[in-house]
Amino acid sequence: MLLCCTDALILNISSIHPLIVRIDETAELIRKETMIPKTARLLQIPAPQIPETIAEKPSNYDKNWQKQHAEALREPEELLQQLALPASLLAPAQVASARFSMCVPGSWVTRIKVGNPDDPLLRQILPVAEELESSSDFSTDPVGDLEARVLPGLLHKYQGRVLLMTTGACAIHCRYCFRRHYPYGDDNFLTQLPAILDYIRADSSIHEIILSGGDPLSLSNERLADLIQQIQTLPHVKRLRIHTRTPIALPGRLDDGLFAVLQAIKLQAIIVIHCNHPNELDEQVLETLSAMRQCGLTLLNQSVLLKGVNDDVDILTHLSERLFSAGVLAYYLHQLDKVEGAQHFEVQDARAIALHDTLRQRLPGYLLPKLVREQRGADAKTPLQGVCRNAS
Ligand code: SF4
Repeated sequence: MLLCCTDALILNISSIHPLIVRIDETAELIRKETMIPKTARLLQIPAPQIPETIAEKPSNYDKNWQKQHAEALREPEELLQQLALPASLLAPAQVASARFSMCVPGSWVTRIKVGNPDDPLLRQILPVAEELESSSDFSTDPVGDLEARVLPGLLHKYQGRVLLMTTGACAIHCRYCFRRHYPYGDDNFLTQLPAILDYIRADSSIHEIILSGGDPLSLSNERLADLIQQIQTLPHVKRLRIHTRTPIALPGRLDDGLFAVLQAIKLQAIIVIHCNHPNELDEQVLETLSAMRQCGLTLLNQSVLLKGVNDDVDILTHLSERLFSAGVLAYYLHQLDKVEGAQHFEVQDARAIALHDTLRQRLPGYLLPKLVREQRGADAKTPLQGVCRNAS
């Protein structure tokens, strides 16, 4: 089912985060989740313009990204057929996707090698039998999001910054997602926004706002612009950070209107992209990232260390170097958040530290991501043992 709205994001309902997919979505829920209410005050955005500083648009720039998004693969059968993968993978994929729905944009599928069940990009999106296993130290809320929720839609974990759960929607569903069980349906971000802004206004120690979700770039350009404009009225907020996998998963989403929104940000703006493997960085993605960089945005990357995907020094080295060529600095290499259903991606700490030590020998310090873990209740990300020595 497609929800269409003039000048607003067109979002296929089945791409909304799996936790709300299973609900018999009503038009009301769709409206809330996609944040395009009839009564919404939409910021008047000038005619979309790509700033002159953006030298080149991506060569295969696709203005019809909404179509790509609507046509993302959601049935494991279709995915397996397109990639000529064994039929034996189908039954477990169907069971696992009933728990956490599959969503894969076509442009992602083109980056997967046909006939290879171990392809690192395939492993990140194909539902598999191992997801159905349980383990006592894996939970539905591995990093304590719910404890940190000071208001629906607002997490306050760390000093000086807060995180806004702007949406439950994503361009792609990653099987290791630490928020795959997050109750997005309980957070009506739109109606909570005035209270969220009041909370921030009342705490002058908050200098940074982090837009997260879900993926904030799933919001319409108008909604995003309106949100940013409201954040910019908060006098003590200096920085805006946006965590997104969209430039990697669906680079065509970075359309003229979105570039205009991003370039108009008056706060110091940091975009943290989430890229795990160099194969994710095809020409369109690299050109999109370069264009974002030319908008004056600081681009950082955080990866998750994933068994069978990127637990390899050559891959991690190549990833940092390739990202840097597009103006993106490697920022964090995260140990897996122990979320139920993602046990098969875990890399043991000793191996993670050994990989990172070798990576340090290979890369200059500015290309070396910090190896960290997010721990429930901790006041910051926790470096793993062995990462504190000075990088060259
Ligand atoms: S990891 Fe990020 S992009 Fe992937 S499903 Fe989770 S929130 Fe969405």
